[in-house]
Amino acid sequence: MRAPLAWGPGGLPVPYAAAWSAEKRALPVARALTVRPGGAGLAYRDERPGDRDRHGVLWARMAEAPGEGRPDFRALHSVRQREAMLRRLCQVCGGPAERTSRGWLFLMQRPEGEPEGMLTTKPPVCRPCAGLAARHCPRLTDPVAVHCRKPRVWGVFGGFLAPAPGGRFASSEDGHIPYGDPAAPWFLASQLVIELTRCTRAATLA
Ligand SMILES: [Zn+2]
Repeated sequence: MRAPLAWGPGGLPVPYAAAWSAEKRALPVARALTVRPGGAGLAYRDERPGDRDRHGVLWARMAEAPGEGRPDFRALHSVRQREAMLRRLCQVCGGPAERTSRGWLFLMQRPEGEPEGMLTTKPPVCRPCAGLAARHCPRLTDPVAVHCRKPRVWGVFGGFLAPAPGGRFASSEDGHIPYGDPAAPWFLASQLVIELTRCTRAATLA
């Protein structure tokens, strides 16, 4: 476990994957985006390597300035969220997530049914941070820990953008789409979604 960034007089630990206000300043998306030649989907006017993932999905750009401004405990930073998912990093401290013979450790609000097959945008945690998050995270009123042997990359979270008059784009409500969705060329991703498979409940959070 690494020491997470702290914030405020109480030194509240701020998750590694949380977005800070300096990172959330809205970039002018509409002016940055255009339609690909032939009308085949969205593109950045000055598209760079890294703007798309390996599935060809376009990602929202976000400034990177962890520790600047105020943390938003409800928002995840797109780059750190994706990195933590793909590299199995703890979403709280950014160190390696806990892994045992039963898989990687995930912390979640108690699901209505079994966690098997659940889709999530929340990266795994290490064991010390699971306890920390269970105590401090306001969203986790009834936390459970789950081991997952096979966290499977499923798709992306974000929104659709459709060309509108005046060179603008009309956006949909945010939601999930699976990789391979035929409408993906019109989707701007902000988080990676994984499917939790081969899950078992972890005994304790301590
Ligand atoms: Zn940790």
